Amino acid sequence: MAVVKANAYGHGTEVIGRALDQFVDAMAVACLEEALTLRQAGITSPVLLLEGLFEESEIQAAAEHGLWLTIDNEAQVRWLEKSRLSTPVKCWLKIDTGMHRLGVQPENVAGVHRRLSACDNVSGDPVLCTHFASADDVSSGQTLQQLERFEQATAGLPGSRSAANSAGVLAWPKAHYDWIRPGYMLYGNSPMTVPHVNTDPLKPVMTLSSRVISVREIAIGETVGYGATWTAERPSRIATVAVGYGDGYPRLARNGTPTLVNGQRAPLVGRVSMDMITIDVTDLPAARQGDAVTLWGPELPVDEIADCAGTIGYELTTRMPMRTPRVLT
Ligand code: PLP
Repeated sequence: MAVVKANAYGHGTEVIGRALDQFVDAMAVACLEEALTLRQAGITSPVLLLEGLFEESEIQAAAEHGLWLTIDNEAQVRWLEKSRLSTPVKCWLKIDTGMHRLGVQPENVAGVHRRLSACDNVSGDPVLCTHFASADDVSSGQTLQQLERFEQATAGLPGSRSAANSAGVLAWPKAHYDWIRPGYMLYGNSPMTVPHVNTDPLKPVMTLSSRVISVREIAIGETVGYGATWTAERPSRIATVAVGYGDGYPRLARNGTPTLVNGQRAPLVGRVSMDMITIDVTDLPAARQGDAVTLWGPELPVDEIADCAGTIGYELTTRMPMRTPRVLT
């Protein structure tokens, strides 16, 4: 199951949905609007609404568009029981094994499962699923604890099972069960924060690139950008690059965040503006106006940039704004 929520983690729902449609058994999104975007793009795979069902009226839309529903609380079961549907919908039953955001408590799983299986509006047995809190950290015992609770809560119940997000796929083979639900790794990025797994085969899909639009020499003691947050400690060459937080580059990226100018590293200096950043190319004497600059991509992991901005790569790709042109290569 390919997770393509949040505009396919910023890569574009339609383009990613069409690229994956023939290779996956299903796709997953967060909400009805995202599912309808996939349908409007002609995607025919089953689509699961991951974060559940927010309103009763969404059940009808799910039945009409061949969507699957995640059921994570008993109110949703009641809505399903009293709906009148021409076609029954496939349901996933989410179990709270330790994330404590959504999901039926383990002791109530058998009862909810029985009601769903008996409901005419539900097609077949629900898929039993849970979501991990710390699968990205192989040193944490939480994943094994969640797996144990999942096994106990679902023991003896019919239906297929699902637990693994990207980190579960990469680091926890025991958690693969019948359905895996990778998101971030589909786009070639590693979710692992404590890595002891080989993530080399992952190749980032997204490259954020721009060009140098101006180069200037500044003297010792001069500062660069809003708030004068960087001061030249030597005569310096500063290149201005046409990318800013309005293009999805993180405003909180700190001095020293790496960029690649014609493939060579050069550090960010000064504050990120809406449409521009400034980089120190003193050590790259060949750098010129018009040079290609990579902000992240296969040679510069988005997670390294995210780390310099106090966030995670998930947020950077997902927040890619509409104004940034997406070019398929
Ligand atoms: N499954 C569920 C229920 C999710 O909410 C998500 C995303 O947060 C995923 C799978 C995919 O996670 P990842 O992008 O870490 O693979």
